Parts: sequence; structure tokens; C-alpha cells
Amino acid sequence: MKFQPHASHFINGEYVEDTNGREIEVIYPATGELIAKLHSATPAIIDLALKAAQDAQQAWAALSGTERGRILRRASDIIRKRNYDLSVLETHDTGKPLQETTVADATSGADALEYFGGLAGSLTGEHIALGGGDFVYTIRQALGVCVGIGAWNYPTQIACWKAAPALACGNTMIFKPSETTPLSALKVAEILCEAGAPKGIYNVVQGYGEVGAALVTDQRVAKVSLTGSVPTGRKVYAAAAAEMKHVTMELGGKSPIIVFDDADLEDAISGAILGNFYSSGQVCSNGTRVFVQKGIKEAFLKRLTERLGQAKIGDPMDMDVSFGPMVSERQLNIVKGYIAIGIEEGARLVSGGQQLKREGFYLEPTVFADVTDKMTIAREEIFGPVMSVLDFDTEDEVLARANDTEFGLAAGVFTADLTRAHRVVAGFEAGSCFINTYNLAPVEAPFGGSKASGVGRENSKLAINHYSEMKSVYVSMNSVEAPY
Ligand code: NDP
Repeated sequence: MKFQPHASHFINGEYVEDTNGREIEVIYPATGELIAKLHSATPAIIDLALKAAQDAQQAWAALSGTERGRILRRASDIIRKRNYDLSVLETHDTGKPLQETTVADATSGADALEYFGGLAGSLTGEHIALGGGDFVYTIRQALGVCVGIGAWNYPTQIACWKAAPALACGNTMIFKPSETTPLSALKVAEILCEAGAPKGIYNVVQGYGEVGAALVTDQRVAKVSLTGSVPTGRKVYAAAAAEMKHVTMELGGKSPIIVFDDADLEDAISGAILGNFYSSGQVCSNGTRVFVQKGIKEAFLKRLTERLGQAKIGDPMDMDVSFGPMVSERQLNIVKGYIAIGIEEGARLVSGGQQLKREGFYLEPTVFADVTDKMTIAREEIFGPVMSVLDFDTEDEVLARANDTEFGLAAGVFTADLTRAHRVVAGFEAGSCFINTYNLAPVEAPFGGSKASGVGRENSKLAINHYSEMKSVYVSMNSVEAPY
């Protein structure tokens, strides 16, 4: 098999196997070909990983931030050097076009390792002067063993976005990738070791949901960071809360993009394309409810359809291909189900809607118009290449409708009126907002959701607060006064 790793898990600096674990078949979504066979972690493997992470944590935290940072930055350099090979692997794991994976996956992981590697040496507490010479100083401490659980859409990026701030703060990590895309996190673990990471600071265990659940409930774990759907988030958050563990939840969305009639039409269409069809629509922050002001609706749809005709759908390994298959047959069927519901509930199918007659899990980029707020396709996260276009008259009306959702991950507005743009953004109930662009996630900016879309933030300096806690130390310079 083309991409068979040495073994399923990476624990304490080496590959480990236990063939008693349930089999995991890794399928190349473009052809349906089996490219690797792994095994889900058994209780013995889970315990081995927890023990390794626990044993390694104190010595790792005792290094200076600069030393930890140097290792992360070295790992970032190695990832950049191997970007092409890592991208080929990511394309086979996910089906995403090489045109995308070479610029948005391993490179984004490298950005996180570089950024948090750079920050590691500057993580400090503070000195707080009190009256009479007394003072408090604070010590920024690691939380301990962290568990990362990933979704299947950006496996390398998710593995690094969680590892980088966790390790920079002196924590150790056990990462469980989605069983649909288990391969690239193993490469991240290998590369961290090659960069000089001590054994046990970053471990990868494979498995289905129950492996994640076993990790989340273990007493040795201090923090859980999940990237996944809202239903899984609710379960994991509840399990972590029972033990009072720290959490970061990066969950799903049904984000709005609002296009006013004064917007640059080509830019707005570019934003809507990026926010619906990149990675075949399998992006959490996608703007899948596109509200277009009535006067420009038909022009928007006409030009959008023309531009979708230019998408090159095909073999994701061909650098000219800009639109690949869905990640799995299961996800393809879920999305086809939503398309059928959209038609049944009376939305107008403007473009696409069909599975391609070829091997692999290909679905045409699909656009529905005349979608109303109550339709299922406007309310539920589809996680596939399906755009819903809704129309509106006024700013107040559209903002209220845009916010009328349980989700709050992202939101975008396209308009030439900057005053209006800032006013609308101020009203959005969403964690990541965009003006005249969509779906960018630079490591320097906080990323994460409001409402049911999440808890906490990844990336940026803020992530440090989610992977460390402060200890306050009161120092008295005076005698102690007691009442008796
Ligand atoms: P899931 O929620 O199905 O799974 C996410 C991860 O959680 C998987 O590794 C899964 O394992 C694991 N898991 C499932 N049940 C449990 C449990 N009870 N305890 C612990 N772990 C568990 O999401 P998908 O993998 O289908 O990914 C798609 C979702 O992820 C979408 O909703 C998308 O919006 C969201 N997402 C959010 C992002 C963000 O940053 N906000 C970014 C990317 C995706 P298994 O796969 O074996 O079930």
C-alpha cells in the first residue's frame, strides 16, 4: 500500500503497533483505492501514550521557553522543506487538490510552529506592586498533559495548530486524528522528534470516537482541545467539565456572507467561491448562507454560474485542478441527502447538484437560489460544496437574519461603504469576521467561534492563555498582622 506508515501510533518517540485494535482503512478519495491500513488504539496503547506524555511533561516544562521554541522553529523549517511530500500525503489522505495542499496545509502548520516557537521565550508572568512594599508576582505555568482531537478536513494544520501553543507553554500532547485522515499527524510527530523534541512530548494515537472519549475522561489529562462538529463538541465538553478540565472547542458553523448592491461583484463572488467551494466545501468557517441584496441577485447568480464553469474538477494530483472529491463516500452521501432536501423544500437549483460519473467521491459545486431562512439547507451545517443564496432588502433585516442561527463561527460582508461594513461587523454574532474578503486564517489572528461554534480561541497570543494558567505569589515585606 502506497502510504502505509511504519505503524499506527507514535508514542514516546517511536512508532508503536497493536494489531488487536479495530482496523482503520485509509481510502484515497479520488479513486477509492486503499492506501494504508491502521489499527485503532487499544486500552494498552492509550495507557502507553498517557504514561509517556505524563512522564515527559515536567522535564519539558523545565526547559527555558527559548529552548522549547527553538525545537518548534526547527520543526517548522523541516515542514517547509518537505512541503511537497507532505502535501502529496495530505492530498491522498483528504482528496484535496495539490494546488490547495501545497499552500494551505503543511505550510499553515509550519506557520503555527514558527509563530508559537517565537513566542515561547517571551512567556512570562508579571510583577504587581502593592502598598507598603508588598508585591505579587505571577508565574505562567503549563497545564500538564493535553489531548488534541482532530477533524478530517485539515489534518496537518489541526495537528500543528494544537501542538504548537501547547508545547510552547510546556505541556505535552496526545493527538488523536480523525480515523478518516490518520496519516499526516504521524509525520508531524516524526518531524518534531527530528527537530530535537524529547521523547513523549507529542504522541499520536489513532482511533474512532471511543478512543477520543477514553482520553478525554482520563484523570491524567488536564486539557482537551477538539476540532469537530457541534454534537461531538457537546459530548466532549460535558465529559471534560465533569472533571473540571480546561477545553478549547473549535466546532461547526453556518456562517453568513452579506453582499450589498454597492459591492464589487467580482470580489464578492470570489469571496463566496472561497467560502463555499475551497476544499470541496469542507471548511468549518464557510459562508454557506450568501445573502445578496435583491437588486443584484440575478447578476450575481449569472456571473457566479459563469465562474463556476471555469472550475477545473479532476485528479487532485494535477496542479491545474482546483476542485477535488469529497473526503469519503459517507460524507458524499450526507451532502447528496442535503441536496435532495433542498430540492424537496423548494429551493431553486441554479448550478451543479450531481455526483460526477467517475471513480472517487466527486460532487459538482452546487448553488441553490431562492433559499429561505427556514429551509433545512439554510439551517444545518452541510460540510460540502453547497451554497445557499438568499435575498434581502435592508441592512437591519439582513443582520437579524444572519444572526438567527445557533452557530457563530464566521461572518463576512461585501460593500463599498466602509461605515456600513464596520457597523454590520459590530453587529455580527461570530468569532471571525471579514470585510470585503473571506476565509483567511493567519496564525497571528485569533480563530474560533461564538455561540455553539466554540469555546476559546486558537492561534494568536490569545491561544497561550488557553494552554497555561497563572499562579499568583504574594510576597510580604512587612510583619504579619493578625487580630489576636
Ligand atoms: P466529528 O465531530 O465527527 O469528529 C471530530 C473528532 O472527534 C474525530 O476525531 C472523532 O473521531 C472524535 N470524536 C467523536 N466522538 C467523540 C467522543 N465522544 N469523544 C471524543 N472524541 C470524539 O467531526 P468530523 O471529523 O466529521 O469533522 C467535521 C466537523 O468539524 C464539522 O462540523 C466542522 O465544522 C468541524 N470543524 C471545525 C473547525 C473549527 O476550527 N471550528 C475546523 C474544521 C472542522 P471519529 O472520527 O473516529 O468519530
